[in-house]
Amino acid sequence: MQLSNYHSHCNFCDGRSFPEDFVKFAIQHQFRAYGFSSHSPLPFETFWNMSKEDMNEYLEEIDRLRKKYAGQLEIYTGLEIDYLDKTYNASIDYFTSLPLDYRIGSIHFLPIAYPLAEENMMCIDGAFSDFARGVDQYYEGDIRKLVKHYYDSSCAMVEAGGIDIVGHLDKIYMNGQRYTGFSLDADWYTKELFAYLDLIAEKGLMAEINTKNLKKKGEIYPHEKFLEAIRERHIPIMVNSDSHYPDLVNDGREEAFELLKAKGFRATCELVNGKWEEMAIE
Ligand SMILES: [Zn+2]
Ligand SMILES: [Zn+2]
Repeated sequence: MQLSNYHSHCNFCDGRSFPEDFVKFAIQHQFRAYGFSSHSPLPFETFWNMSKEDMNEYLEEIDRLRKKYAGQLEIYTGLEIDYLDKTYNASIDYFTSLPLDYRIGSIHFLPIAYPLAEENMMCIDGAFSDFARGVDQYYEGDIRKLVKHYYDSSCAMVEAGGIDIVGHLDKIYMNGQRYTGFSLDADWYTKELFAYLDLIAEKGLMAEINTKNLKKKGEIYPHEKFLEAIRERHIPIMVNSDSHYPDLVNDGREEAFELLKAKGFRATCELVNGKWEEMAIE
């Protein structure tokens, strides 16, 4: 089993501890590689995104740790960059000019009005009560409309570029499945999802298998039932815990690797000396 994690948060965004605490946990658990991926700055302040003013300190702190723990753990600097729309995403100059080892592209917000401000966003990743209110208010209570918006925005993110890894690619189902009318098996759902997978494969991007809620809720992103569709498209994958707490760095990893083996996956993508390589799953 690969002992690595490329999706993680620390106190530069909404992670609950100092970067060094995550590094110490990773070393204690014999990790080979560890990457930080703070929530990118946005055009507006939120509870969980980092501020632009903190970017230099973030880059410097990870660099300090990289040097301090050289020989014990490969440490990498990434970002989890929100796609908002064509004007604000990983392909804009601000992000492409940052000295990062990799970039994860994720959708948490869907703009439902302008300007780009928190009050004009449909948040798909928050509490279900807020999510349900959003579907009622902005999508006329039709979950299909939200799903369409989500996958349209996801495809636009991949088309815009500037990312290496697609983050929790079907996170819409976390809250979506609790809303009336949602179905992971309906044609209107799978058509959108498969078109997105086709595009990820066409653009040669990697996808993460996100274990953040695997032990807590029995959910993995992408959903277990779509793992074969990923393998069939030869989309390179890696297992990430999306940890916000040091002691959750390794959460769900073993279970995810067992699942991947059962679904016929043979390798994961790993950063080795700064380059992505395929590493066989033992
Ligand atoms: Zn995320
Ligand atoms: Zn995350």
